[in-house]
This record gives sequence, C-alpha cells and structure tokens, in this order.
Amino acid sequence: MELKPNYYMICEELDMLTEQSLLVTEKPRLIAVSKMQPEERVDALLEAGHRVFGENRLQEAVLRWEERRKRHKDIQLHFLGVLQTNKAAEVVAFFDAIHSVDRPKLASHLAKAMKEQSRALPCYIQVNTGEEPQKSGVLPADLPDFFTYCRELELNVVGLMCLPPAGLNPAPHFALLRQMAITHQLPRLSMGMSGDWQTAVRMGATDIRIGTALFGERGT
Ligand SMILES: *Cc1c(COP(=O)(O)O)cnc(C)c1O
Repeated sequence: MELKPNYYMICEELDMLTEQSLLVTEKPRLIAVSKMQPEERVDALLEAGHRVFGENRLQEAVLRWEERRKRHKDIQLHFLGVLQTNKAAEVVAFFDAIHSVDRPKLASHLAKAMKEQSRALPCYIQVNTGEEPQKSGVLPADLPDFFTYCRELELNVVGLMCLPPAGLNPAPHFALLRQMAITHQLPRLSMGMSGDWQTAVRMGATDIRIGTALFGERGT
C-alpha cells in the first residue's frame, strides 16, 4: 500500500492550489477520513505526522482512537456522520468538532451536552444543497431560521458543510454553500472529498474531508 506517497502528493497539491486560489487565504485543513480503513493505514498516516482525522460512527471511532490518543495527545477528531440525539453527549465528549448538525432536536441535544461538559466544540451546519430527499442536512431555504435557532442555543457554529449530489458537477453546490456562509458571516466551509476536493479548494473550502484518495478503498 503506497500510502505515504498519496499523502505527500495530496499535501503538495494542496499547497499549490492554496497558493493559486484567489478565494483561499489560508491552507485548508485536511481531514483524513479513516472510517472503515485498516489499522495499519491509519498508523502509517500517524507516522507521517498527520493528526486530523474524520469518523462517521461513534463506536468505531472510540475503538480506533481511544488508545492512539493516549500515545498522541494532539490528535483531532472530527465527527462527520449522521448523529442520533441519544449519542450526542458521547460524541461531544469524544470528538473535537462536529460537521453534521442538521436538525433542531439534534442542535438542542448538542447544546445541552456542551454546556454540561463545558466543551464548546466547533460545529458546522450540514446543508442539503441538492435538496435530495434521502440526504440529511437542512434545506437552503431553512438555513436562516435554523442558524438563528442554533445561535439562541449558543451553539458554537463556525461554518457550513455539504455533500453535493453524486454524479453532478459539484461546483454550483460549493458556490451556493460559500454564498450562504458569507451571508451568515460564517468563516468555515467544510466541502470537498476524494473526487472533488481540488474544485472545493478553488472555491474557498477551509476543511476538506478525504478518505479513499488518501487511504485507498474502504473495507466493509
Ligand atoms: C466518507 C466521507 C467522506 C470521505 O469520502 P471519500 O470519497 O472516501 O473521500 C467525506 N465526508 C463525509 C461526510 C463522509 O461520510
């Protein structure tokens, strides 16, 4: 598995795109999405010095990261997945950021857990830019009210996140997300995955979430 070369190539390309992009002022954060990846690939990336990882399931993340975190105190874990309200407190306790705040009930559970634990994790509101019925995320038209609600809860909302529809040009979705972030004065944009991260960076991403392009295909 040629893992480190993948990593160094992506880092190099990211540096280059950051330099070229008129919309990007600082280098986007590379979130290595380690869900369903073999342990040795995760360790190879840790060995290369990478410390920012993304997971979409609480149980899997705890199994993978609890011990590794004792060895590397500076690991940063980002939660990217569908989050059930009954897991909100555990996710707040274990993770360092949440990219998938997508409904009022979840927002209020997260806000309560963060207050109880005195942990104001950076949160991203997930927006369903393609208005796909099977996908989570607030609809663009519902964002203003939902954002107001999150602010009333004193949730630490730092940005927006999207997953563009598969098979379509992602650029209009990234542009829409960026426009909405500007409107709401939100500094961070979590957008871009293995297939479209370069486009996302050109369009102002501050957080890119890369799994397979970094680690190879996921197991099941
Ligand atoms: C799995 C996942 C990714 C990474 O996807 P790749 O195509 O493997 O890069 C990014 N974001 C979210 C929300 C994911 O669930």
